[in-house]
Formats: sequence, C-alpha cells, structure tokens
Amino acid sequence: MTANRAATIQMMDHLDARCTISGMTVARTRTKIVATLGPAGNTQPILERFIDAGVDVFRLNMSHGTQAEHTKTLAAARAAAQTKKEHIAVIADLCGPKIRIGTIDERNDRIDVGDTCLIVRREIDGDATRFCTNYPEVVTDVQIGQRVLIDDGSIRLLVSEKTDEHLVCTCMTGGRLATRKGVNLPESDLSLPSLTDKDRSDITWAIEHEVDFVAVSFVRRPYDIDQVRALLDDGGSDIPIIAKIETPQAVAAIDAIIDTSNGILVARGDLGVEMDVSRIPLLQKDIVRRCGRVGKPVIVATQMLHSMVESPMPTRAEVSDVANAVLDGTDAVMLSAESAVGRFPIEAIAMMNRIADDAYEYEAGLMRRPRTLLSETIRVGEAVDPTRSSVARIAALAAQDLDARLLAVWCRSGTTARWISKYRIDAPIVGLSGREATCRRLVLSYGIEAMLVSEGNMHGDAPWRDVETLLVRRFDLEPGDIIIVVGDPEGTGREATLRIEPVSGT
Ligand code: PEP
Repeated sequence: MTANRAATIQMMDHLDARCTISGMTVARTRTKIVATLGPAGNTQPILERFIDAGVDVFRLNMSHGTQAEHTKTLAAARAAAQTKKEHIAVIADLCGPKIRIGTIDERNDRIDVGDTCLIVRREIDGDATRFCTNYPEVVTDVQIGQRVLIDDGSIRLLVSEKTDEHLVCTCMTGGRLATRKGVNLPESDLSLPSLTDKDRSDITWAIEHEVDFVAVSFVRRPYDIDQVRALLDDGGSDIPIIAKIETPQAVAAIDAIIDTSNGILVARGDLGVEMDVSRIPLLQKDIVRRCGRVGKPVIVATQMLHSMVESPMPTRAEVSDVANAVLDGTDAVMLSAESAVGRFPIEAIAMMNRIADDAYEYEAGLMRRPRTLLSETIRVGEAVDPTRSSVARIAALAAQDLDARLLAVWCRSGTTARWISKYRIDAPIVGLSGREATCRRLVLSYGIEAMLVSEGNMHGDAPWRDVETLLVRRFDLEPGDIIIVVGDPEGTGREATLRIEPVSGT
C-alpha cells in the first residue's frame, strides 16, 4: 500500500437489496508491502499497527514456529484486517527441502582456512572436524571439486575426496559452525524430493486455514509447482501458488516456472548464496520484467531494509534498493527479519511505504511504463484466453486515452484485473468481487484495490449506479469523470466486455 490510507471510506451495509456491499474496502494502490510475521509482530494490536503503517500482505514463514503458533498468528492477522476493514492477504511460505547440518559441539566449532573436515552419511554428534546433515544422500550427490556452503555461504568448503560414507572437505572460508545452520550446494545435482513430509503437512494446514497464497521454496522445475497444485487439488483448494526463485535451476527454467505458477518471489537470500551475488540485481530486473509481461505478480524480497532490524534508520543503499525494485516494476516489496524479529518493525513498514510512494511519484512524472507495454501484443501465458487479455489491453489503453479516473473490473479469479495491472497505468484498478478470498488475492498485485460486493441479481442499470456511488465517495469522483468498467457480475454472460461510464450527475 503506497498511497494515503486516511481516505478509507465507511462503506454502506445495505445499498440495495440486490446489491449488498460489505463494510470492507481495501488496500490502497500501487506497489504492495509484504511483511513477514514473527515475535516482533504476531498479536492483533500490533498487526493493526502494521496495517496502519501500510502492509497489504502478511507472510507466515513455515520454516520457523509450529502449526499451533501459525494458527494463532493467522487468527490475529484476520482479526486485525477485519477491525481495520482492509483486505489483507496471507502467504504460507513452505520450508522446502532445506539441507541443514546436524548438532555441533560448541567447544570445538571453529574451522579455519586450509583445515579439513568430514561430512558423514550417518547421524552423529558433530564438531568442526566431522558432522552430518539432515540429508544423508549429500555424500552421494556432491562430487569432488564442488562447493559446500554453510550459513548463507559465510563458511565455504570444497570437496577434495569422497567415499561411500563421507565427503572430505577443505575449508576455503572459515568461521564458527553452529547446530542446524543451512547448507547450499550450488553445483550439485540433488536427488532430494522437492517437497518434504513437513511441507505436505503444512499444505494441509494451509488448506484447512484458507490462507490466500502458498509459497514454494527451492523450486527447481515446473514439476515442483505441479506437485503442490496436485496436493491442493486433492484437498479441494484453489489457493494460488507463488514460486520462490532461489536456485540456479529455477533461473534456467524461469519462463516455464512463471507459466506454471500464479506468482513469483525473488528470494534474494538463498539466490545470493546459490549464484554469484553480483548477478542478483540483474536477475531481479530480468525476473520482474518477465512477470510483468504476462501479468503475474512478483515480490522482491530479502534484506531490503536489513539494518532496520537493529536501527531506526535504514542505510542509503537500502533506501535505493527499495526504490529501484519499485522502478523495476515489481508488484510487491517484502520485509523479512525487519518485521519478524526486528526492533523497529513499524518504522520499517512506514519507511518502505514512503520510499515506494516517492518512487511512484517520480515515475508517474516520467510516464514511461504504459507506452512500452501497451504497444506489445499478447504474450504466451495469456494466449490461453486471448479474448480477455485483449479486453484487458484495450481497457488499459482506453484508461490512458480518456484519462480515466479508475477502472472497475468485475472479478471471478481476478485474472483480467491482473492483466490490466501489468500495464502499470496511472488510474487505480478496483477489483469487484463477491468472494472475500478473491479480494484478498487481488491485493498482492500492483495498483489493484479490492471491493467486496454481493453479486446476486446484479442485472440492469440500478446496481451499477449503487457501485458507482461507492466509487464516487471512495475516490472523490466528479460528475463526468470517466470510469472504465470491465466485465459484469458473474453469470451475466458479459464477462469479456468493456464499457465507458461517465460518472452521472445525480
Ligand atoms: C530468501 O531466501 O530470500 C527467502 C525469502 O527465503 P527464506 O526466508 O525462506 O530463506
């Protein structure tokens, strides 16, 4: 949420017997803010303050905490959103097949450059000379000459010999090992499954608790997304899936992964360990651009305002990082430790909001994005529904040509609204839906607000006037202002239509 939330209007409970509008309206426009929840923010009063400061989406990191704890945090998040009358989405971020070292004896945990150590297949109590991992097959999968990176790459080992039972490693960069620190194996072809038993159980939890998105960690190929989709289908759920891009294999298969998933998260933490860190800004730009072309929401994540974990002010470089992600055209920017365990979570959210707003104002002055994308034809991925994607493009063009104040888009799944969003037009896009879940899913995408309406008996002219009344109040519209209306309520058979509605004078 990057614009002023003060404008939240009091929605009417009953405008018309045929068109009931709930008391909720939404996350404000443009670049969205995702906040990871943790001990620094997991109660209703604090989460209400998170929303006031500008959060649009909460992220539950399933790598930490128990399901019982997540259930409590989710209830607090839903209650906070209800109190604040905002549509706030929740992402359950699966742990994925993260390899971790076993226990390390603190009395002998230091490894220095040139030291050798063994990584053994069987489970042992380890120290700096020999230790195990939670994935015994590491001894089979990692080859001589490949690197073993520990603790986000701060300790670097090179495999110099191997047997069936252990790897012999030489230390290239030393440090202190610690129990359960993460391991990355950037050059190795791993046979480990993409989903663990814990992930399967967390997917069941996500279905039961109706979270709004499931994020999949360590995706390597489209099949990893298909597997999650199959589990969701089995559970009767259509929760959208976000693929986290954090491995070189995912970067190599990026278009197919974007096509298979409903959104992308550029997970710069692990990506910066698995690949050369100097390439991260370029990969970010490339992935954001690819998502933008097909209208799939993309989140740029990790260490965006990292110094605010400890400090009330970010570094200048961090401010530039957030602004540049916005200028790259990302749908959302994400806070991790800053909001989960930091000392200044609310300040970090508010800071992100301000930076995104300023970047938007700068870009709005340049008016660059719409011209480039609007001249492009329909892309692969949209081709599944060329009629609707064409209507989306024409709606964006008409909004520009006519200087429309807003686009009102009737949504089922929200695809048309997302396809309009990709043009990054100046006018807000208001997704109208009778489903709360659809409203929450919409708010991850750039420039989309959501409005919950009852779609029953929405035929004829009168109900549109009721919706118009709400939009006039919410956006301070004047008679004659142009609203581009895309589609009609579900079941009318007019989903792929476009109308130009000047605001009536009465
Ligand atoms: C990352 O690696 O950048 C990331 C967002 O994933 P996680 O927080 O699960 O490590």
